[in-house]
Amino acid sequence: MEREVAWKKYPEGEKRQVVMDFAEGYRQFLSDHKTERECVKYFEAEAKKAGFKDLDDIIKNNDSLKAGDKVYRNNMGKGLAMFVIGRENPENGIAILGAHIDSPRMDLKQNPLYEDTDMALLDTHYYGGIKKYQWVTLPLALHGVVAKKDGTLVTVNIGEDASDPVFGVSDLLIHLSQDQMKKEGAKVVEGEDLNVLIGSIPLEAAEDDKDKKDLVKKNILRILKDKYDFEEEDFLSAEIEVTPAGAARDYGFDRSMIMGYGHDDRSCAYPSFKAILDVEAGEKTYACLLVDKEEIGSVGATGMQSTFYEDTVAEILSLLGHDSNLAVRRAMRNSRALSSDVSAAYDPNYPSVNEKNNCAYFGRGLVINKYTGARGKSGSNDASAEYVAQVRKIFDENGVSWQTSELGKVDQGGGGTIAYILGNYDMNVIDSGVAVLNMHAPWEIISKADLYEAYLGYKAFLKED
Ligand SMILES: [Zn+2]
Repeated sequence: MEREVAWKKYPEGEKRQVVMDFAEGYRQFLSDHKTERECVKYFEAEAKKAGFKDLDDIIKNNDSLKAGDKVYRNNMGKGLAMFVIGRENPENGIAILGAHIDSPRMDLKQNPLYEDTDMALLDTHYYGGIKKYQWVTLPLALHGVVAKKDGTLVTVNIGEDASDPVFGVSDLLIHLSQDQMKKEGAKVVEGEDLNVLIGSIPLEAAEDDKDKKDLVKKNILRILKDKYDFEEEDFLSAEIEVTPAGAARDYGFDRSMIMGYGHDDRSCAYPSFKAILDVEAGEKTYACLLVDKEEIGSVGATGMQSTFYEDTVAEILSLLGHDSNLAVRRAMRNSRALSSDVSAAYDPNYPSVNEKNNCAYFGRGLVINKYTGARGKSGSNDASAEYVAQVRKIFDENGVSWQTSELGKVDQGGGGTIAYILGNYDMNVIDSGVAVLNMHAPWEIISKADLYEAYLGYKAFLKED
């Protein structure tokens, strides 16, 4: 089943401009929001502007909810749930869009700062699945927060502004790489060697100062104290993420693609967010769920395995006057969801890893993965045929370009998503998202047409009462 390229629907002129304008909004969002915390800040502010109210305020004030209300709830600054309350009792099910907003990167260790041969470095522990050799000799930025004992939170964002310095991990010169080049790919650059170089000027110590050790490190600490008002110990309670530095860019002569950091999974999170923002309230309640920690197994309070979403549904039901455990269970079971996560795009440079009838192609629209997983579909949420038919019908009736895919050839590898976790509530859920080239590399690529089709698909999915 060959699927048409979505670009055919968008001839040059007004029609194509709509796709390009949507993509430009996304490109700017992607450039400015590189961590889950930064994404939540943006989504929360935009939701407020669009009339969404803070659910926690409504709970605190003992207010109630009614059809047509729009609410959101922030989960520890790293996750966000949004709801548009429908006219029907949510016990009959909610239409859910779920995407994740964490991306592969390097995190600073708790004791990161050290000096070696008059150079100051930061030690990291990588987050998510990365090919370590891709993360060297690149301009890198530092994003995150430092939580101090007095309760203040210092925000760190260095390396993005053109006038900012950048940082990086060095690699061995080719002239001396005889041994390195013989190593297997996983060992060419090893995890423990991902140390970020951050300075080389020693602190000007007084003549009578006895302690003349680690003066470069001390100079860095002086700068951190002056500029950000935190000390070395405060690194213990910091979350600082090392990401590629710089903006996402249009890619290709025809500007049909975007290269940027974190398409996985912000190229699904952004159109999901836009879809719930743009959709009118209907019969069913709509939800958009933006979660953290997918790249490390959806664990912890801000990952999909947390009870945050279920608890929030319980709060909403209670505010609508349906306060029972059974109501919550029914609402979960009767829901239908799109787990919006990216898919691997067919790469003409590496055709051997895919089976060409069952893989995703750039520009052919939103990708549905009935299952992901590895080996014998292990770890996948295998959506039922009936549900695939339901979703297929929605997309076809709304003129959405879409395609089906598997993550690579059988036994080539595999991957996970948040789909199975929603599936555990006995609800229908399927993976659907945007195809990505260079997935998990510092700079990933997507097609603008696919991004726009994802937006159309997500909106159509919500509206289908
Ligand atoms: Zn991923």
